[in-house]
Amino acid sequence: MEKQEAKSLGRRLVLVVFPFQGHINPMLQLATILNSKGFSITIVHPQFNSPNHAKHPEFSFVSLPDGLSKSNISPTDLVALISALKTNCEAPFQQYLEEMLKVDDPHDRVACVVYDGFMHFAQVVANNLKLPGINVRTSAVATLLFFAVFPRAHDQGYISFKECLAQAPAPELQSLDFNDVLGPAEIPTPLLELRATVTHATKKASAVIVNTMHFLEQQTMSKVHEYFPSPIFCIGPFHKLAPPSASSTSLLKEDTSCISWLDKQAPNSVIYISFGSMVSMDEKELVEIAWGLANSEQPFLWVVRPGLVRGSEWIELLPESFKERVEGRGCIVKWAPQKEVLAHGAVGGFWSHCGWNSTMESVCEGVPMLCRPYFGDQGLGARYVCRVWKVGLELEGVLERGKIERAIRTLMVDSEGVEIRERAKDLKEKADLCLSEDGSSYNALNELAQHILSF
Ligand code: UDP
Repeated sequence: MEKQEAKSLGRRLVLVVFPFQGHINPMLQLATILNSKGFSITIVHPQFNSPNHAKHPEFSFVSLPDGLSKSNISPTDLVALISALKTNCEAPFQQYLEEMLKVDDPHDRVACVVYDGFMHFAQVVANNLKLPGINVRTSAVATLLFFAVFPRAHDQGYISFKECLAQAPAPELQSLDFNDVLGPAEIPTPLLELRATVTHATKKASAVIVNTMHFLEQQTMSKVHEYFPSPIFCIGPFHKLAPPSASSTSLLKEDTSCISWLDKQAPNSVIYISFGSMVSMDEKELVEIAWGLANSEQPFLWVVRPGLVRGSEWIELLPESFKERVEGRGCIVKWAPQKEVLAHGAVGGFWSHCGWNSTMESVCEGVPMLCRPYFGDQGLGARYVCRVWKVGLELEGVLERGKIERAIRTLMVDSEGVEIRERAKDLKEKADLCLSEDGSSYNALNELAQHILSF
């Protein structure tokens, strides 16, 4: 579709962001993609973790009061966060949209509300104002089932895992092992309610956009279609479809000095370690990782985000003997330009918490992974990587330096690692095809644009 087409019809999309790095990145990438298709964009976001407006002069921004800075909610308490955002943002969002709709400019008409699935109140507001809502999954399509499926049958329209697999046994879904990922059979009521609310909003949406590629989750996709009636557009990974000129969406400053350090390393020799923006660990884990890296004798680039280690500012807990041992062979930064790092020829492996963005970024560069999931959808990401696509190894159980050293060597130098690397390269080629002209993500994006124009 030509850019002019949407512009001349005056279509504005209102995107609602969930304010955490792993959600801000894909939502702003999606905004850039939709803008490149000719849609005008307004980004609505809570004040907390505000994106830098100055970096995106092409968008309009609206900041909603959220009350989060005054609360004591932990960033990992998803239920409390989502509930606080709904309580504080729903009314101001509706008020803002009502004002916007009063300005009936035919050259700048609001076509729909495109919201992060965790900002489910946006669908309610869209319904109230008779606007279409499009639900965005910044994670795997499997998370649609993940939120709707439970270890046992429940009322309120939940699906039991057994039921979900009964009609068409799908090896892909068996490998994901929802029973295990979903944790204890007794799920706390507030979490059950959150899953039901998110699922309900998704079912009400006029469409669902997912940051995934169809071939990566083919069997899961068929199952998802059985339970979710709206059209689903898999147009991921967003970071690859976004124009390359798109500005960085990092909340932390990227330390680009690590790129010149990587320039000096041999091809495929470096293991890159990052646990994303939310994971935290204790001092013991930090020290075991450090010695595992030192003893592996591999070069490494390690992101130790301020706040990663509970009770410590940064790496002051690491012993001098470690720093001396790895001098020249290791590079530690507070935050890296991750996409550039993964695309660098020196990087041969990625030890990750398997956040979905990190997983997609690694897949698209053909980098094999060492998986250490902590919470949320990370377990799902790790199962895709290790059991379905078989492009990584899982590091399970207590983190201990000997185990870490062996896992790194297996991935980076042993024959098992060579096979995993081959499969990772194959997966990258398939991803390239999917993103190229007439590939599934490319086509789905055009279909999505047409779908929006049909509202
Ligand atoms: N990221 C980055 N620099 C870093 C670490 C992470 O730019 O040093 C980016 C990474 O590229 C990804 C996002 O932060 O886009 C993390 O999202 P993900 O879903 O992987 O994990 P989360 O932070 O949500 O746990």
